[in-house]
Amino acid sequence: MAGRFCTLPLPFESPGTVRTLAVRRYGLPGARPKAYIQAGLHADEIPGMLVAHTLATLLEQASISGEVVVVPVANPIGLDQRVHGTLLGRHTLDRGANFNRGFAGLDDAVATRVAGRLGADAAANVALIREAQAAALAGTPPRDAPEGWRHLLLSLALDADIVLDLHCDQESLLHLYTGHSLWPAATDLAGWLGCRLVLLSDDSGGAPFDEACSALWWRLAARFDPALPIPPACLAATVELRGRRDVDPELAAADAGALFRFLQGRGVVAGSPGPAPVCPAQVSPLAGVDRVTAPRAGVVCHRVGLGRLVTAGQVVAEIVDPVAADPAAARTPLVTRTAGLVWARAVARFAQAGDPVVSIAGPEALPRTGSLLTD
Ligand SMILES: [Zn+2]
Repeated sequence: MAGRFCTLPLPFESPGTVRTLAVRRYGLPGARPKAYIQAGLHADEIPGMLVAHTLATLLEQASISGEVVVVPVANPIGLDQRVHGTLLGRHTLDRGANFNRGFAGLDDAVATRVAGRLGADAAANVALIREAQAAALAGTPPRDAPEGWRHLLLSLALDADIVLDLHCDQESLLHLYTGHSLWPAATDLAGWLGCRLVLLSDDSGGAPFDEACSALWWRLAARFDPALPIPPACLAATVELRGRRDVDPELAAADAGALFRFLQGRGVVAGSPGPAPVCPAQVSPLAGVDRVTAPRAGVVCHRVGLGRLVTAGQVVAEIVDPVAADPAAARTPLVTRTAGLVWARAVARFAQAGDPVVSIAGPEALPRTGSLLTD
């Protein structure tokens, strides 16, 4: 059955301008399981757009058992932010806010609506909470363009059983972020994608999109009596499709095929994909990531490649100050605090003090201050 295509208006645009969100829908509205897949929330992260497009071509030919909603370009606002020829789609140009933050939880509003109405039947509780989510979202009307945009995305995704937010890092292995509460349930997703790293956190900080969809479930479960079962009913993950330059039709075909088979395995798309491949990923707490930063400005010289295993104290990069008075003292080695997997590196080859340069995932939480996610 062919999909249906529509465009939804984004509210609060400036007079004389119009922006829309393109949405592809497959299967019967309301059928279960429902999967929601979007790309380009950070509008300068392009690999997911090609994967979403390629997945759509597969879904057009498929028999859909549940419902699939695909938003291939989730952030038309960011996609319009070109400065001197460079696309800057991670933060809003006017206020510098990260587009993947501030998807505020509806916990309080939903909790108020379901209090006294939950019972011993988990499936009935899920249905009740989904209804309350929709009502709570409708009851918090947006006040400006960014809120209007977030509201529209959440209105498409919140009731889904599966939410995949397709991103990429700078230079990176394929990895995903999801909740402790969703692992190992999401092992099949990581297996199909050939994921190299899974980073787990139930609260990453800053309210990213995936947690707006998933975390409400375990936060509600913590609020109410365990005799009123509330399962983690939304499997949401931020899927990082390698680095920003990894835009390639063959990679996209492989990734879209993997997502298609994952959806088959979950009963969203008809047909059997066979057993999911063994998950090849290292699984680490997000709190176990060491983001090695530059202590001073200078030229970045990476010393370890992606996928390498390093030991604590190992030099992973150097910062070279080309105008140091003494050239012999120009090199500053950067060392990692943890043993683990080198999974992401900065693209820029010149760093300012404080810039993240290399990311290493270790097995144990590290002492830190502030949010687990970089801005
Ligand atoms: Zn991103």
